[in-house]
Amino acid sequence: MILIPSPLLAHIVNDAEQAYPEECCGLLIGEGDPAATVAITRVVSSPNLTSSGKVDSFEVDPKLRFDLMRELEGGAHRIVGHYHSHPDHPARPSRRDIEMAWEPEMVWLITSVIASVTGGKAIRTTAHVIDRDRGRSREIDIGSTD
Ligand SMILES: [Zn+2]
Repeated sequence: MILIPSPLLAHIVNDAEQAYPEECCGLLIGEGDPAATVAITRVVSSPNLTSSGKVDSFEVDPKLRFDLMRELEGGAHRIVGHYHSHPDHPARPSRRDIEMAWEPEMVWLITSVIASVTGGKAIRTTAHVIDRDRGRSREIDIGSTD
């Protein structure tokens, strides 16, 4: 289970809609254990630095991540996962996502976005943990808090 306050989920949905038809991405900060419950306390947007085409891939800015890790060092919170969007694709990990999942303890939040008259419209956000070695992912429940 991943617990995420509604305003932080709204931040992710907004990023996903603004980036459409490209993928957005960012980092999730919080505490807890993905095998039990992770509580998200902060969300940080990243520029999408992928060089393979932003319509179907993403790369979080490594400097942003490094700076955040330094800032969080010794504190109660840490980087527990990241989020990205899937323009015109379902909210589940793609084959590329599974291949890129080098960190099994990270939670993956994926928002599916479709075209609408006003631009991108987020339709669904799901959370996953990915077992890269087995080429599998497992969806985990999202609980919203206010
Ligand atoms: Zn993806």
